[in-house]
Amino acid sequence: MTQIVTRARVRQFRKRQLFTMREFAYALGYHPNYIRAVECGALPVSRIFATKFLRLEQDTYSKQIIQSRYILPREVLILAKARKCAGCKRSVILPYAHQKYCDATCRARAHQKSKRKEVRQ
Ligand SMILES: [Zn+2]
Repeated sequence: MTQIVTRARVRQFRKRQLFTMREFAYALGYHPNYIRAVECGALPVSRIFATKFLRLEQDTYSKQIIQSRYILPREVLILAKARKCAGCKRSVILPYAHQKYCDATCRARAHQKSKRKEVRQ
C-alpha cells in the first residue's frame, strides 16, 4: 500500500465507504468544513491528517464485515454497489434500483418518523 495521501484518495475512500462528510469528519476527529477544504484542495493534506487517515483506512479494510441473509459460497463477486438504507443508514446491497429501505420494518419506522415530523410542523 502506498503511503501517499492525496485529496483524491481521501475523497475516493470516503465515497467508497459511504461516509457522509459529517460521519467521515467525526471518524477522523475533524470538523466537516476541514474535510471539505482538504477534499477540494483549499487546504493541503497535513502530516497529522495523513496519519489519522491511514489509520482509519487500515482499520476499515481490516475489519470489513459482510452479513448476508443467504448462505454465501467461499468466494463471491459482488456486482452491485452498496448503498445506505434510507431508514437505518446501514450499508446494504439492495436487489432493486428503486429500493430505499433494507426491509419492511425499516420502511415502516422511517414512515412513522416522517409522519411525526409533519405533525410537529
Ligand atoms: Zn434499514
